[in-house]
Amino acid sequence: MGLSNFSWVWVWVFVFAMLFVRYILFAVVGYVIFYVIGKKKLAHRKIQATMPNRTTIGREIRTSLPILAIFGTLAILIIYLIRNGYSQFYFDFSNRGYPYFIGSIFLLMVLHDTWFYWIHRLMHLPSMYKWLHRTHHLSVNPTPFTSFSMDCKEALIEFGVFPILILIVPLHPNAFLLFTLVAFLFNIMGHLGYEIFPRWFFTSWIGKWINTSTHHNLHHSGLHYNYGYYFTFWDKLLKTEKIQ
Ligand SMILES: [Zn+2]
Ligand SMILES: [Zn+2]
Repeated sequence: MGLSNFSWVWVWVFVFAMLFVRYILFAVVGYVIFYVIGKKKLAHRKIQATMPNRTTIGREIRTSLPILAIFGTLAILIIYLIRNGYSQFYFDFSNRGYPYFIGSIFLLMVLHDTWFYWIHRLMHLPSMYKWLHRTHHLSVNPTPFTSFSMDCKEALIEFGVFPILILIVPLHPNAFLLFTLVAFLFNIMGHLGYEIFPRWFFTSWIGKWINTSTHHNLHHSGLHYNYGYYFTFWDKLLKTEKIQ
């Protein structure tokens, strides 16, 4: 049974509303916890000493709204691909079990991280930067509201890979939903402006492979290193990592 054009519009409105509520909720909660309640107690965890002003946050929210609309459109495309049998989705969980379920989320993170690293490096080429990536880097001192503040073209390139991933990787729907949640949380964490992990974590066996808030913050203040999204393995391999 096909959805009429009218129904697709409502699906889009619903997805956009959900994405908007999630973005505002997490960004506001993060802001209140770290920038308001924890302003003094968590000062030692602030990565850059200066505090953002209202104008900056207003711009970040404004430039995020069209991006959430793009995500809504990508979600429509993904639903269309699933409904018409183009995706590699499987719906019976017992077909592949838990190890594959967890592994498939990790695989999506590695694939997205690889795509992001290379596309991100390309966007920092002078010929591409102004056209694609400058909007995101208007925030030199990022806040949780910076997460989706970017040019529409940048969002389409970085996240347009999601519908392609579902065509290639066999996925349970919940694995894909969890992956999108992890992608969202990493984005919020990377722009939090505060480090949430203790110092020892950075040199631990797992910590040195994670793209922490400090890592991505250093990318915003310095531009020429830490291009990864979830992990640091591409930055380590290509010697573009800066730890502090
Ligand atoms: Zn960023
Ligand atoms: Zn960048």
